[in-house]
Amino acid sequence: MDNFFTQKNCDRCGKSLKDGRIQSMFNSECICMDCKKKECADSEYKKAQDADIAEIRKGNYNFKGIRG
Ligand SMILES: [Zn+2]
Repeated sequence: MDNFFTQKNCDRCGKSLKDGRIQSMFNSECICMDCKKKECADSEYKKAQDADIAEIRKGNYNFKGIRG
């Protein structure tokens, strides 16, 4: 996550991040909004989101995601 705000391209598809960036729900990649949309359509998105919330509740703010 160190390069999150400085890197210029999506970790997943390599597209420019000028239109927005967000952390993947599945791992610690910094991805573009197009990749985020694809994640939201993934059948395991809800599971990944629930796991993330559960880890934060436990106090783990560095959870890498279910595919991290
Ligand atoms: Zn992308």
